[in-house]
Amino acid sequence: MLATPPDFDVLIVGAGISGIGMAAHLEMECPDRSYAIVERRENLGGTWDLFRYPGIRSDSDMHTLGFVFEPWKHEKSIADAPSILEYLNTIVDERDIRQHIRYSHKIISADWRNDEARWHVAAELADGSQTLLTANFLYLGSGYYDYDEPYDPGFEFRDFKGQVVHPQFWPEDLDYTGKKVVVIGSGATAVTIVPSMADKAAKVTMLQRTPTWMFNRPAKDGIANFLRKILPEKTAYKITRWKNIKLQDFGFKRARKKPDKMAALLHKRILKIMGKDYDLTDFTPPYDPWDQRLCLVPDDDLFEALKSGKADVVTAKIKRFTEKGIELDNGNELEADIIVTATGLKIAVAGKIAVSQDGVPVDFSQRFNYKGCMFSNLPNLAAVFGYLNASWTLRADINSEYICRLLNLMQKTGSDVVVPTLPENHGLEEDDIFDFSSGYIQRALDIMPKNSLSYPWRLNQEYVTDRKIMQDGPIEDGILSLSKAGANAVDADEQLEAAE
Ligand SMILES: Cc1cc2nc3c(=O)[nH]c(=O)nc-3n(C[C@H](O)[C@H](O)[C@H](O)COP(=O)(O)OP(=O)(O)OC[C@H]3O[C@@H](n4cnc5c(N)ncnc54)[C@H](O)[C@@H]3O)c2cc1C
Repeated sequence: MLATPPDFDVLIVGAGISGIGMAAHLEMECPDRSYAIVERRENLGGTWDLFRYPGIRSDSDMHTLGFVFEPWKHEKSIADAPSILEYLNTIVDERDIRQHIRYSHKIISADWRNDEARWHVAAELADGSQTLLTANFLYLGSGYYDYDEPYDPGFEFRDFKGQVVHPQFWPEDLDYTGKKVVVIGSGATAVTIVPSMADKAAKVTMLQRTPTWMFNRPAKDGIANFLRKILPEKTAYKITRWKNIKLQDFGFKRARKKPDKMAALLHKRILKIMGKDYDLTDFTPPYDPWDQRLCLVPDDDLFEALKSGKADVVTAKIKRFTEKGIELDNGNELEADIIVTATGLKIAVAGKIAVSQDGVPVDFSQRFNYKGCMFSNLPNLAAVFGYLNASWTLRADINSEYICRLLNLMQKTGSDVVVPTLPENHGLEEDDIFDFSSGYIQRALDIMPKNSLSYPWRLNQEYVTDRKIMQDGPIEDGILSLSKAGANAVDADEQLEAAE
């Protein structure tokens, strides 16, 4: 340890689910460690505060999108953004986290100084000025997408006379009453927006280039609500959480093993609401279920909107944008007053922070994931990238728990530097970072950290296995090296003595 301590033991970037989760784990598992959460926006919640489009809700059940330590108490298991924000705010207040949050702190650079065993972190403040913070450990809960700009598919709207809206920047005062709306996209966002706008709009059309596999289910979980009536809240939550983890895992593995059966099952659910003669072409993707995330349709809302005639789905390619709407490749034209471009997010690595080690820039695409939370040869830094085949928070929780274990081991051994060490001649065989065909993943492959075929150098997609390793596996695994600051580091007392 060095004589002058850094400003914080741990600096958490981002006050979304991941950052708040880490703070809560620190409060529980490392209560004597100092920390701050730095957040570029003026509110907490990240995704759940940024997105304001009609109907914004989770796609996952809140028993797994909620934290392991805090039961989800609402009746609906598929939750809207205000309920998720309420959940996060309660945690922040009840666990004394709020006072640690510094808003309007956009982290722009972080340089690891090995001799000082600390990060020098530069934050841009609301007035454009900068401030410097130091921390021994940097925990990135900065999400996975660019907060400044969404994915740009290169649409040319020059001729279109109506209004164009992107879900990431929804205008507060957008009045779509009686308007013709075209929502471009077929992912979770489009599928949420279409039925939500259908009530007030004259007509909402979901224009998709490629269909998506839809999974309709009730927004309320009958078993969860029954268990809550007969068991203490925490026990009921634990059981429902485990049930959902297992069901999710089973569904994913079954889809990968027997895609035809899963496809038939998903179609059957649609026919149940739409009638047995319904043409399923618009809901038959050219890929197998779970090659991309399934799209949730809670309480059949999308299909109810289609049935009512207030919404429809068109599968076609866009030729060009006209004055009145969209001309399609098949010669048809869709008229629109408002076009919503639900065309996806742009992935960003490490919150777009310029990370460096002793002044040398770190290129994350040249590093290997270590246990899905740290990176090869990069000291004292962890990040959260949630599951693609399960809820994000499952990963956020196990990463926080693991890093708290690690921080406690560092304290016990008097170490202040920890680094997953990978030799240059490692000979690791690389694996696809994600075996998913989703556009946003494919577009980002060249900026994402590398994955090897085997543990620990990968970001795995099997929660049950990962959890066991992160919770019970040895931290000192012969790869993670723990040491004291600087090449000739001496402990804090010795340094103080030497200084006297
Ligand atoms: C519309 C939508 C719906 C989703 N639904 C689901 C779902 O149902 N289930 C699921 O598992 N996942 C879902 N996701 C993924 C979702 O992002 C995660 O569930 C979760 O909210 C991520 O939490 P996070 O804290 O890691 O990131 P975020 O929610 O993105 O929060 C990151 C925070 O970090 C801040 N930040 C970023 N960079 C910096 C910086 N440089 N300096 C300071 N602060 C910074 C941001 O302002 C933000 O507050 C959804 C995503 C979107 C966009």
